[in-house]
Amino acid sequence: MKYISTRDTAAVRHSVSSAEAIQRGLAPDRGLYMPDRIPTITHKELEGLMSKPYAERAADILSRFLTDYDPDALLADCRAAYAEDRFPGGAAPLAECGDSIHALELWHGPTCAFKDIALQIMPRLLSRALTMTGEPRLAHILVATSGDTGKAALEGYRDVPGVRITVFYPVDGVSPMQKRQMTTQEGENVFVCAVRGNFDDAQNGVKAIFADPALARRAEEEGSFFSSANSINWGRLAPQIVYYVSAYCDLVREGKLSIGDPMNVAVPTGNFGNIFAAYLARCMGVPIARLICASNANCVLTDFIRTGVYDRRRTFYKTMSPSMDILISSNLERLLYLLGGAPLTVRCMEELSRDGIYRAPDSVTKPLRAVFDGRCATEEETAATIRSVWEERRYLIDPHTAVGLCAVRQYRAETGDDTPVVLASTASPFKFAADVLASLGTPAGTDEPAALLAALHDAADAPIPAPLSRTLTLPVRFSGAVAPADMADVLFGRA
Ligand SMILES: *Cc1c(COP(=O)(O)O)cnc(C)c1O
Repeated sequence: MKYISTRDTAAVRHSVSSAEAIQRGLAPDRGLYMPDRIPTITHKELEGLMSKPYAERAADILSRFLTDYDPDALLADCRAAYAEDRFPGGAAPLAECGDSIHALELWHGPTCAFKDIALQIMPRLLSRALTMTGEPRLAHILVATSGDTGKAALEGYRDVPGVRITVFYPVDGVSPMQKRQMTTQEGENVFVCAVRGNFDDAQNGVKAIFADPALARRAEEEGSFFSSANSINWGRLAPQIVYYVSAYCDLVREGKLSIGDPMNVAVPTGNFGNIFAAYLARCMGVPIARLICASNANCVLTDFIRTGVYDRRRTFYKTMSPSMDILISSNLERLLYLLGGAPLTVRCMEELSRDGIYRAPDSVTKPLRAVFDGRCATEEETAATIRSVWEERRYLIDPHTAVGLCAVRQYRAETGDDTPVVLASTASPFKFAADVLASLGTPAGTDEPAALLAALHDAADAPIPAPLSRTLTLPVRFSGAVAPADMADVLFGRA
């Protein structure tokens, strides 16, 4: 299987292997890599996966997309990435949320957020890609983070051969718990540095490093090159397809569905990566009917799905689901490409960067609306959803997941479609303890990480996830801070 850029409009398109696509991240024309066809999975093959553990399901699905990787190597990597010690209780277990809504808990990994599922396997895929493409240099991963991605990337890349990682975070732009998680990071090939500025300063600093030829030369001289762990990398997207396949297998195995019965999927969405993975699972042949795309107050996707107009020229809201506070959902480009082709994608992306707005034609919006339903939740609705599912079911969810559940309830009330739903649960409620406690009507009155965890533990009588409590006991390793202009100073001269 070959990979093609979403912006390649040439008569004979340029294609690369999956290893090259993963090594490059972004295509040279700034498009995103897509497989040249979507592999299929039959009901019989789905039944075959039902008795297998998650790692084997993952290796099966990944090997259909990453055809240049050795299947045995993929299986070894999946077993290591999704081992019990990294994902206690399983990588993607289902929990009952009532009314045949099944929460797909994607946050049992090392940093308690769903990004772990991709970021535990992607560094291994990259490390193999470097060997497969004969790349002798060290890949130096640079990340600017507003919180969750940085920690998940650090855990994923720590001590991976052929790779080094540097994470920059805005000094006052992350929660005390997130800061503690990053500054105590273990591993020999990791470095964490605060930037005296906001997230945009950190992000622009990283972009400037990528664009600086003198720094590229310095990297070359020491035998390294800069690379990113961005969510637009195919190596992050492909592993997310797996848990939707896996959820279907589990629902059939538990007798909640018969093979071939449809399920709907609801996803709290930011960059459109997670929900696009669900769409690919649907394209493969997993019986998924509708995809419910849930947004918070930054409802640019809700409007796009309903009107066909993508307009980012709007107020940016800071919400209690910060990982969805996004106005440019990068992975939507992949859906545009599948539904409308490369020339249309190029036109829309040019208009978006030039004017901040584009309109998709009916040929795209009609098939889009046949599958996707867009909904959004206000802060009040999000808090009320956390509280009601706790009071009715004694089931605790984080604000991102609550946005998703709120969307499911809206969708059902409006359409009467009561198809069973798999709801992507994207973070542990303990990661957002302050907002969860406030939503339950018992605000903690502190932002001290240990006190917050203890307060939610008391209120909900639920165990504190081990990775979070462990963080509180580790020594701080990285206490440095730099001005945005000095970020390049910390990149070199490390082992
Ligand atoms: C990243 C993230 C999301 C958004 O996922 P996308 O793939 O960007 O749509 C939702 N919830 C949490 C907790 C996240 O960390």
